[in-house]
Amino acid sequence: MEFEAPITEIIEQTHDVKSFRFKRPEDFEYKAGQYLFVSIPVNGEMQRKPLTISSSPTEKDHLEFTKKLTGHEYSDALDAMVPGDVLIINGPNGRFTFEGEYNKIALISGGIGITPMISICRYCSDSKTGTDIVFLDSNKVESDIAFGDELDEMGRSHPNMKVVHTLTRADTDWLGCTGRICEPMILDYISDILERTVYVCGPPPMMKSVEELLLNMGIPKEQIKKEALVGF
Ligand SMILES: Cc1cc2nc3c(=O)[nH]c(=O)nc-3n(C[C@H](O)[C@H](O)[C@H](O)COP(=O)(O)OP(=O)(O)OC[C@H]3O[C@@H](n4cnc5c(N)ncnc54)[C@H](O)[C@@H]3O)c2cc1C
Repeated sequence: MEFEAPITEIIEQTHDVKSFRFKRPEDFEYKAGQYLFVSIPVNGEMQRKPLTISSSPTEKDHLEFTKKLTGHEYSDALDAMVPGDVLIINGPNGRFTFEGEYNKIALISGGIGITPMISICRYCSDSKTGTDIVFLDSNKVESDIAFGDELDEMGRSHPNMKVVHTLTRADTDWLGCTGRICEPMILDYISDILERTVYVCGPPPMMKSVEELLLNMGIPKEQIKKEALVGF
């Protein structure tokens, strides 16, 4: 479906990540993990980008997407928008979804690849699916972690949800996990990975290396679900 959506709220998640909220039409149904096409005026022409829905289907009053601000033209135009400005929304789209169909899942994201994962975690938390989730989220530095407090709170209040942040360029005062996602890290935090359906989302180079790693670890291809956040 396509509709016009005045922005109702803008939330700064990190120094370069913002969430945009608008009213959810009553008949708009979607699954956690799906994306929208968001059209906005950019230098006098409409441009559209695929952006994942970061809200959960359980949230009836609003829809939310979350954009990494790249300094490029679409990004700058979106960053300059204020509540009341109108987006053209088309969707939902995509098959990188979770509706409670697996008992045990692993989520692995790099950078802004967190957007479908937060939707899935919010969905599982709100609708009490009881899904056993291990979420491995990779970023460069601590200030890049989006939704960090919300995820850590979900991890604390749901015994079956474990959230691990790894940093590739951590400061010396970071006490958590460090380094790129690798086999020893996965075996440390997700020792039963072979029993899980694995969702992977991030920029294309990260996706390629994580998929190769998972296949080498013996995880069947059919057990790996992927969404590459390619730019176009
Ligand atoms: C299914 C799917 C879901 C996605 N979900 C998300 C999401 O939830 N959040 C998110 O942030 N992204 C998401 N993306 C990626 C998103 O659609 C954009 O492609 C990405 O964020 C880059 O946007 P931009 O604002 O930099 O775009 P643009 O301004 O159009 O730039 C796109 C590319 O063009 C080039 N370019 C443009 N202008 C310049 C310039 N001035 N100088 C140099 N190079 C330039 C760069 O190579 C740049 O990477 C998703 C992609 C897909 C396919």
